[in-house]
Amino acid sequence: MNIAVLGAGAAGLAAAGELARKGCQVTVFEARERIGGRIWTDRTFGYPLELGAAWLHTGMAHPYAARSGGRTQKSDPCNLLLFDPQGRAVDAARCRELAAMQVSSVGRALRAGSLSGRPLSLRQSFEQVTPEPAEEVWLGRARALPVADIDALSGRWDPGADEPPPNQDLMPLEGYDTLLSTEGCSLRLEEPVEVVRWGADVELVTPRGSFRFDKAVLTLPLGVWRSGKVRFEPELPGKAEALSKLGVTLLNKVVLQFAEPFWPEGHDFFALTAQSEGHLGTYLDGQRAMGQPVLIGFASGRAARELEQKPDFEIIQAALEALRPAFPAVRWPRLCKITRWGSDPYSLGAYSLVPPDGDPSAYDRLADPVGPLFFAGEATWRRAPATVQGAHFSGLRAARQAIG
Ligand SMILES: Cc1cc2nc3c(=O)[nH]c(=O)nc-3n(C[C@H](O)[C@H](O)[C@H](O)COP(=O)(O)OP(=O)(O)OC[C@H]3O[C@@H](n4cnc5c(N)ncnc54)[C@H](O)[C@@H]3O)c2cc1C
Repeated sequence: MNIAVLGAGAAGLAAAGELARKGCQVTVFEARERIGGRIWTDRTFGYPLELGAAWLHTGMAHPYAARSGGRTQKSDPCNLLLFDPQGRAVDAARCRELAAMQVSSVGRALRAGSLSGRPLSLRQSFEQVTPEPAEEVWLGRARALPVADIDALSGRWDPGADEPPPNQDLMPLEGYDTLLSTEGCSLRLEEPVEVVRWGADVELVTPRGSFRFDKAVLTLPLGVWRSGKVRFEPELPGKAEALSKLGVTLLNKVVLQFAEPFWPEGHDFFALTAQSEGHLGTYLDGQRAMGQPVLIGFASGRAARELEQKPDFEIIQAALEALRPAFPAVRWPRLCKITRWGSDPYSLGAYSLVPPDGDPSAYDRLADPVGPLFFAGEATWRRAPATVQGAHFSGLRAARQAIG
């Protein structure tokens, strides 16, 4: 069987590998000049730096864990040094207590939200369970890894989602991209698919021509799928409504490499509670994670969208201003790297989410095959969307569906 795969991210490569193992002839079309998609390991500083996914979220249970040969570094979201709004470091035991409270409060908030029986944002659900106003401010500001805008996220528990094991995050030390493989497939880089014509078989149209296949596995990121940039002829039945029930959020990284570290050793993260939510208030200590004098700041949700529009210079300045109350010795960094996943044309956002008025069953509906087309990608794996493992398992599923 002659099968095309659209996209060489975690989902596309998992699908391609499985199809090749089962004896199919596989061609992967990738719009970028590199594989990996939202796995993007940069080496321009002379060591691997993750600009997209950084963690194997399920630790040794992750489908990529065996490929890392054990060369990973554990990272603990509760090993966090908090700075109060005046820039004073908070006592270590209190930091752990607050970080652990934050982790447990997400679960409690979602369960409380589910009982309410009406659409709620995660912020509204938090308001039902957070203990005292002062703590709420701290927890809200310091949400250890701000993954999304809590106003944009549904505040209800999805019974179809996996409960992730806490504190299992591992960072692959030699680079996430070393865990990817293109074995057994023919790879066409810098070849964006523009039109998918489908009927009894599939025709893909790219700037270099049009190509026929028996079947295709499509792994379009949700932001790109929703944008309509890839045309389906005829239109896909049953997908438009599902696409409208999910959202796309943004997470960006600001990587600052300094001449030497000016921060205390021993923490995985720093959280600056003076910062407004999502606005460069959380930093990963690269000294501990990668042995480099690097801080990696996170911007998420609405704050990330605003920041992304600014020039690099202003973004670096914003990060330094955020750091200065806690670290008065901070100087202009030697090297910087800033991501803009929202305006990246082949991603158009960081990952999927269920909005307050959304419906998590849309993940399953996006996964339903249509004729010779099979669908994969993080936004088609309800059990663990927005993750590499979710993308990987969705790719395996689509490949198995395609070969029956
Ligand atoms: C900043 C950031 C941090 C993250 N951190 C983590 C983390 O620590 N751990 C974790 O598990 N997950 C993390 N994620 C999420 C994770 O990266 C994604 O869920 C996963 O990589 C998605 O894989 P995918 O194959 O579904 O999509 P993608 O990786 O986006 O692959 C889709 C591919 O399709 C290509 N494409 C798009 N349009 C076309 C076209 N028209 N024609 C051909 N090709 C096209 C794209 O270039 C891309 O290569 C993070 C994401 C971001 C953005």
